This record gives sequence, structure tokens and C-alpha cells, in this order.
Amino acid sequence: MNDSNKNQKRGSDVVDVVVIGAGFAGLYAHYKIREMGLSIQGFEAGPDVGGTWFWNRYPGARCDIESLDYSYSFSAELLNEWKWSERYATQPEILRYINHVADKFELRRDITFNTRITACTYDQAENLWTVESGQGDTVRCTYLMTTTGCLSTPKDPEFDGLAEFKGQWVQTSTWPRDGVEFAGKRVAVIGTGSSGIQSIPEIAKEAAHLTVFQRTPNYTIPARNAPIDPEWEAKVRKDYVEHHRRNKETKGGVQSKLSTGLMTFDVDKEERLATFEHAWQFGSAGIQNVYSDLLSNPEANVTVADFVQNKIRSIVKDPETAERLTPKDHPFATKRLCLDTDYYDTYNRPNVDLVDVRATPIETLTAAGIKTTEKEYPFDLIVFATGFDAMTGPLLALNIKGVDGLLLKDAWKDGPASYLGLMMAGFPNLFTVNGPGSPSVLANMVPTIEHHVDWIADCITYMREHKVTRIEPTMKAQASWAQTVHDVANHTLFPLAKSWYMGDNVPGKPRVFLAYVGGFSNYITRVAEIVTGGYVGFKLSSDHSESDKSA
Ligand code: NAP
Repeated sequence: MNDSNKNQKRGSDVVDVVVIGAGFAGLYAHYKIREMGLSIQGFEAGPDVGGTWFWNRYPGARCDIESLDYSYSFSAELLNEWKWSERYATQPEILRYINHVADKFELRRDITFNTRITACTYDQAENLWTVESGQGDTVRCTYLMTTTGCLSTPKDPEFDGLAEFKGQWVQTSTWPRDGVEFAGKRVAVIGTGSSGIQSIPEIAKEAAHLTVFQRTPNYTIPARNAPIDPEWEAKVRKDYVEHHRRNKETKGGVQSKLSTGLMTFDVDKEERLATFEHAWQFGSAGIQNVYSDLLSNPEANVTVADFVQNKIRSIVKDPETAERLTPKDHPFATKRLCLDTDYYDTYNRPNVDLVDVRATPIETLTAAGIKTTEKEYPFDLIVFATGFDAMTGPLLALNIKGVDGLLLKDAWKDGPASYLGLMMAGFPNLFTVNGPGSPSVLANMVPTIEHHVDWIADCITYMREHKVTRIEPTMKAQASWAQTVHDVANHTLFPLAKSWYMGDNVPGKPRVFLAYVGGFSNYITRVAEIVTGGYVGFKLSSDHSESDKSA
């Protein structure tokens, strides 16, 4: 699949741009930077392109944005030639798409694979970044772009006794490339976020017995996945480029097919239930937006939470299991809403059990399996679907050192500080694609990636045209953006849940809302105004002067 390593630069070098990561964001960055005629060096920890879609190959992995929307829009030719087969694409199909893009535009050419970056250091005197890998690669660059993904640093299994366990264990986030055999095995899955909820029904079909260890029940909606509806596809394809442009004018980066434009209590109970039922039958995370106040008004949220809780009770035959699967400690969709195929129904299978690890916590792993406070369960295979150190983890892992030796980990000790999720004060000419404080994980990732990469490309062009050699946000603008991110989050119910959005899943991580919840379209407008105003909130300097456009 990849013979590009032959052409790669090794050793010490100076290039215009270094791009770290070769998933959706990294590949588009390569396309864009090369189009600008700049020199580029990419690094990717994995052996090939794909990022999150390379690693997360667990059974049942698929996107929860419709395929026709989860596509690059930068090339009309690419849009028109690629045909998706299902409404929600599987991981293998998305990886085929990413490979097709890499092949079509020859994007592997400047990427060194199997190479994890372990240090990025800013040299003030030279105004260059030095980027180093664990294998001894050293490259210097004028502009550094991180395209390391938001959910790419897996949380290591945090259980005592792991080394004692004699069976096999795997993580959904780094699934073995040659697959995992379940047939005839006693399998455990720990974790019921999106990865657990997608993989559990598939594992249950093959395993002799499956035990799910659940800490917090999550809300999930049936995806109703199917082959793409040809009528819908024809309609979208008639004006495909325009369809994608319109996606960028929406809050979530995708046009809603379910939003009523109304508030919850604008309508009576009967109409509300009919609307929720329609959304449930339709199958989309868009159920959370059918009424505009569902994620901001607690009473409104209860109406949809009740609706879904009743669905759980109607599907799951054993009332005790149904009760255990019913979320009670957070408002609907304030932990990331999942889309599933037969998730709740899976608990009606005779070979599936559910253990509530809040009631009976896991004490330790043993040679034979998992020991809770209640009993020891023997297993042949344990699947950890325990999530990621989201948003900040991938950036902190780069050991970034900025002006005056400032370490990113120190700058972020109270939580990530960034201007627009694009740049950080004290780290000049370092651009983060979908960094903390950007809409990113709350929107369709592909258009948000395209928007960030385009913005960065335009910024670099501006710098070169105006002889600007250094750009970084002011502390004031950065603090003001952090306040905005905090304020808009506090107008919603999101902070009421213990979730990875808030950093709650990683012990010791500061509790800060990690994404901008004000909407992708609002964000695009704000960012455009900042540029039109001459990069408001950024410090631009040339070798001879400095200008500070305070926000
Ligand atoms: P996650 O949402 O963080 O879920 C991790 C699960 O593991 C949670 O149920 C968590 O319980 C549990 N857990 C963690 N540590 C545990 C421990 N020590 N003991 C017991 N349980 C533990 O991770 P994820 O499922 O990998 O999903 C992460 C994100 O990736 C998603 O929210 C989504 O944004 C993205 N994703 C998307 C798709 C898709 O597009 N379809 C698919 C997969 C993932 P608590 O809730 O109690 O912490």
C-alpha cells in the first residue's frame, strides 16, 4: 500500500512547513501547502495514512456523520468520482477513501511513516522550529502544523493486575491489523462510549459469551444504517459542491434533516413525542437538535431524555438490565451522543451480561480475568473501549517548547489556552488544526479541518506577502477567547456531565470545556472578521518591527 518511504528526506533539513499527522487533516494540509509551492515534510506515527481511521478498526466501527457529508469538498472531481456504499460508512470504506485521496493527489510523497514526533522546539534566534522524532530524525521548519487529531492519544488501561492476565487483551483505539478472533471465547468489554457501543453488538454475535463492564450508561440512538438512498444521493450530487458549502453555514457542519426550528415548549406533548419518534425512526444524532433548546434548557432536555429512556425499557426485556442501561446522572447528549446498530437489543441475547461497575467496581485484573468487589469473572479476551486523552493529549505528547523555553505542558497546567483553537501565545508560527477551543469534535470534522487548513494557508500567504516573519496571538486575545469558550459552554447543559469534553475521563486533567460550542458557522464568521480586521488579536512581526492588533 505504501512505497513512499523510498523518497523521503532523512537527517537534518530546513523546510517551509512540517506537518505532524497524516489523517484527514494532515493529508489536506499536504495538498494545500504543496499547491502554495512551499516545501513540506510530513511525519506520521503509523505505517500509512488514515489517522483515527487507520487505528480504530474494531468490529462495527463506522462514522456517525452521513457519508455524503463526511467527505472532502476541496476537489469537485474527487467529490464526484467517489461513491459511498452506505449511509454511514464503515471504517474499512473510509480508510479506502483516504487511501484513494492519498493516491490520487500523491500525498504520501513527503511523509515519513512509522515516525512519532517526540519534541518540537522553537529557536528564537533563527525563528525556526526544530522537530525531532524518537528515531533520530531532525527537521527544522518556518511553520509547524499539528494535524494530530482530537482523539488519537488512547488512555492506557488503568487497571491493577493487567500484567497478570493470561488471556489476550486489546484496545479498540489500536485494534490489531490482522483482526481478533472471538469465536468460542469468553469476552469482556470495558467501556460503553461510542467505541464500546459500536463494537458490543458485533462481538456478541461471535463470542461464546460477552460480559460488558459499564461505568456510566450512555444515550444512544439507532443509526438505521442502510445502503445509500439513491434518491437522496441523486439530489445531493446534483449540486454536490454547493451542498458542502451549505454545510459550512451550519452549526454542526452538516445540514439538519430533523431540526424543527422550534423550542421544545412551543408545541404540546403529543406533537413533541411524534417529533421524537420521527427522529428515532430516522436514525441520526440530529435528534438532539430537533428543538433548539434541548441542550440548554434542563426541562426541555428531560422531555427527550424521558423519550429515549422509555425506548430503552421497551427494547430491553429484562427490567433490571434495562434499568442499568438507563442514564440517570447526566442530561441527554451532554456526554457525546452515540449512534448504534442493535445496541440495546444485544442485551436480550442469552450470551450477553451487563455488569455495573459503579455498584461493583473492578478491583483488579487477575490471571484468569476480572475481579470486581462481587466476584471474579474468567475471560479469554478483554477489550478495553476506555477512550482517549482528548484534544490536549496529542499536542502535549509532542513536548512542545516555545519562546524562552516555555513548555506547552506548563502553559496548559490549568487547562488548554489557545486563540480560536488555531494558535497559542508563546508558540509563534505553530498552527494547530482543530486545536482545543475550536468547534472540532462538536461538528462534522471534515469541513472543520478544511476550514482550519485553508485559514492557516491564507495566513502563511499573508505573512509572506507582507514580509511578516512571526505570528502569535496576544495573551489578551487568548484569554478573551478562553472566556468565550467557557461562557458559551456555560449557556448549555454540557458542563453538567462528567465527560471527556470536560477532561473528566483523565485523572488530574483540569476541568475545562475543550471545544467551542457556539457553532461552526458563528466560528467561521468570527475568524473571518479577525482576518478582515488585519489579524485582530495576533502579534505580527517582521525582522524589523512588531505590530500588536489587540482584540
Ligand atoms: P469514551 O466515550 O471516552 O468512552 C470510554 C468508556 O470507557 C466510557 O464508558 C467510560 O466510562 C469507560 N471507562 C473509562 N475508564 C474506565 C475505567 N477505569 N473503568 C470502567 N470504565 C471506564 O471513548 P470512546 O468510546 O472511544 O469514544 C470517544 C470519542 O471518540 C467519542 O465520543 C466520539 O467522539 C469518537 N468516536 C466516534 C465514533 C463515530 O464516529 N462513530 C466512534 C468511536 C469513537 P465513563 O463514562 O464512566 O467515564
